[in-house]
Amino acid sequence: MSNRREFLVQSAAIAAFSTLSFPTFGMLRPKKKLGVALVGLGYYSRDLLAPALQKTLHCELKGIVTGSPEKIPVWQEKYGITDGNVYNYENMHTIADNDEIDVVYVVLPNSLHMKYAIMAAEAGKHVWCEKPMAINAEECRKIIDACNRNKVKLSIGYRMQHEPNTKLIMKWSETKPYGSITALDAVAGFRYGGGYSDYWRLQKDMGGGALYDMGVYCINAIRYTTGLEPVAVSAAHETTRPDVFRNVDEITTFKLRFKNGLIATGKTSFAENINKLDVTCESGNFFLAPMQSYTGVQGETSDGKELHAWPGNQQAQQMDDDAMAIMNNSTVMVSGEEGMRDIVVVNAIFDSADNGGEWMDIV
Ligand code: NDP
Repeated sequence: MSNRREFLVQSAAIAAFSTLSFPTFGMLRPKKKLGVALVGLGYYSRDLLAPALQKTLHCELKGIVTGSPEKIPVWQEKYGITDGNVYNYENMHTIADNDEIDVVYVVLPNSLHMKYAIMAAEAGKHVWCEKPMAINAEECRKIIDACNRNKVKLSIGYRMQHEPNTKLIMKWSETKPYGSITALDAVAGFRYGGGYSDYWRLQKDMGGGALYDMGVYCINAIRYTTGLEPVAVSAAHETTRPDVFRNVDEITTFKLRFKNGLIATGKTSFAENINKLDVTCESGNFFLAPMQSYTGVQGETSDGKELHAWPGNQQAQQMDDDAMAIMNNSTVMVSGEEGMRDIVVVNAIFDSADNGGEWMDIV
């Protein structure tokens, strides 16, 4: 497998370089696309990733892994997936023998990310794993180790870090056009309408709740906007519908303290539609609102700069960026370590909230 992988990396890099660098010369060989298998054919795979894969330049939807036999003919027909590229959770490890699949994208309930990300890595496939990366830092570490051991690349599905306005703000953490940040507030949530007690987003042991689902956007935004790592956290949970949110958080508010004294605030919720990043600096301020929607991420600065919504497809951009990292054997944009840092903060937030909002060190 590793020989094949080396060949793939080399030939794909040459093809990609040729096509990207000299697009006008017709005699160049056709560009190689990476074969992607989606694991878990739920909402995000069905409505966002599979359609986005059709828009990528460097990827092809080649395989599916599903526990729902009734979904198989629908996906096969829609995307031309061959019988040999259809797997279930029991036989997914045999994807190791399938040369048409280069990347396995784990799009499962959060508590299942670790098991199937490791299975993909052990099969010698590059791993893309949805956010939140896993349930705790230990699980994240195991995924990272499995990918390193098997010499495959690992990217976490933080689509915002591939979105141009977000990337600009990330750059400002270094260039500081408005001086140092003095206050920052990040909120992300939506009104959860379901009342289904068996749905995994309402189950603690499945990694349910607002913080894992939406709170990681706030944590990630606070980290990429400051370019700094928080050192302590104070947090609290609230519930407006205790009958629905029996054992997961519906609303979580938190403060993240940084070494330089900055205290950033965050709020995540399954009770209301909220979506904004507000940043105050020494000599100006800026915001993104919405800050993490699939489309329309836009903002403004205090000196009148408008950050217009980017018309592209975030998921296609993310998967092409991640494919290029594989093809060129270059550093991925959102690494496993990056995914893990958010989970360390998530775990500290839970600890603090369970201890009456006490400030907890983030270690
Ligand atoms: P869904 O519940 O819609 O889909 C999850 C799928 O996982 C199911 O359809 C099922 O697919 C499979 N599955 C396997 N085992 C189980 C199980 N025990 N219980 C339930 N489902 C199971 O979830 P989403 O698609 O909304 O979310 C999946 C992942 O994607 C999550 O980690 C989420 O955080 C992430 N996500 C990321 C987004 C982003 O913007 N980056 C947006 C939305 C989600 P099958 O029937 O094929 O086996």
